[in-house]
Amino acid sequence: MSKTCIYLDNAATTRISDRVYNAMLPYLRESYGNPGAIYSLGREAARALKNSRLMCAKALSCEQGEIYFTSGGSESDNWAIISAAESIREQGKNRIVTSPFEHKAVLNTVNALEKRGFETVYLPVYENGVVKAEDAERVIDEKTALVTVMYVNNEIGTIQPAAEIGAICKKKGVLFHTDAVQAAPHMIIDVQNDNVDYLSISGHKLHGPKGVGLLYCRKGVPLRPFVNGGAQEHGLRAGTENLASIVGLSEAMAETAENAESERNAMLLLTKKLTSALDKVKGAHLNGDRTKRIPSILNYSFEGIESESLVLQLDLKGIACAGGSACTSGSVHPSHVLMSLGMSESLARGGLRISLGRYNTEDEINIFIGELTNILEKLRKLTGF
Ligand SMILES: *Cc1c(COP(=O)(O)O)cnc(C)c1O
Repeated sequence: MSKTCIYLDNAATTRISDRVYNAMLPYLRESYGNPGAIYSLGREAARALKNSRLMCAKALSCEQGEIYFTSGGSESDNWAIISAAESIREQGKNRIVTSPFEHKAVLNTVNALEKRGFETVYLPVYENGVVKAEDAERVIDEKTALVTVMYVNNEIGTIQPAAEIGAICKKKGVLFHTDAVQAAPHMIIDVQNDNVDYLSISGHKLHGPKGVGLLYCRKGVPLRPFVNGGAQEHGLRAGTENLASIVGLSEAMAETAENAESERNAMLLLTKKLTSALDKVKGAHLNGDRTKRIPSILNYSFEGIESESLVLQLDLKGIACAGGSACTSGSVHPSHVLMSLGMSESLARGGLRISLGRYNTEDEINIFIGELTNILEKLRKLTGF
């Protein structure tokens, strides 16, 4: 067991909740039947699968036939974008509109499509890390097949105008996908209101299990077979269902929806504490808009300081925090998200992401603030900043 920790990296992954864990256990042991089997053990599994789909549909205000279980956010992004692009190409459209600070699951899917003849248009994200719906309206043309813009950015926590972009896409007859992986843990999502055609969610970002997610795909919108084989997931994604995880995901979505309001208020208090302390630090910059953000993700750059050394020093104190995106760490490049905001390379390298979850306490935040300010002082004495 690791000795950690004060865990402040909830945008990377979250601890499974007790309620989710308990809901999953029966499906790992006594109710292990295959939902495709007609005897009672199978029917019991099929009922749990159907119930999970209904729970997810309720959480998103859609129909259960519009929910497709997947292996996670990355797969949902791939499936939606590839389906939309390839289907609409048959109408002679080959342009995809997106933003430069999407998750790699979106950016690299779009890059792969470019190799197959698609063109990409990137919306400006501005210094505050928010795209403008009017830019989307301006760049959509008769060649545009799909717009894919994330709901909430995973490194800086800014909320994008998904509903406005959805309305524009609807008006212009263009398909709209949104990666809502970071929105789902903190916002009530209504796919009708937001005019979304495809929407991606991941289990492990909302105190559910890893390796499971879902794709919402509006009825009548093109969706291509993704895994060939049996008739699972409305005949489009074969393979015996990962039932325990699917049950866990649906329970996590229900729990999140029930607690959304109170958790938001609790997190706002912690965030306020964090910002009022960190804003006072010399050379500190809060990255991304101050108000258009979810309360759980803060990203600060400290002039003259590399986030990597902060992450390692914090780790020695039992605190887990991210520098840049977890998915691109290990590579030497500064975060593509922070760079897209027009920041200097040195400030982008300094971006420290503090992401809160359901289980963080005020005590933990106080300890974190104390440790971080100590570390910053020490590092600055060394560098003479
Ligand atoms: C984590 C994350 C993903 C990937 O989800 P997985 O379930 O880990 O594949 C996609 N998009 C965003 C915004 C994320 O934060």
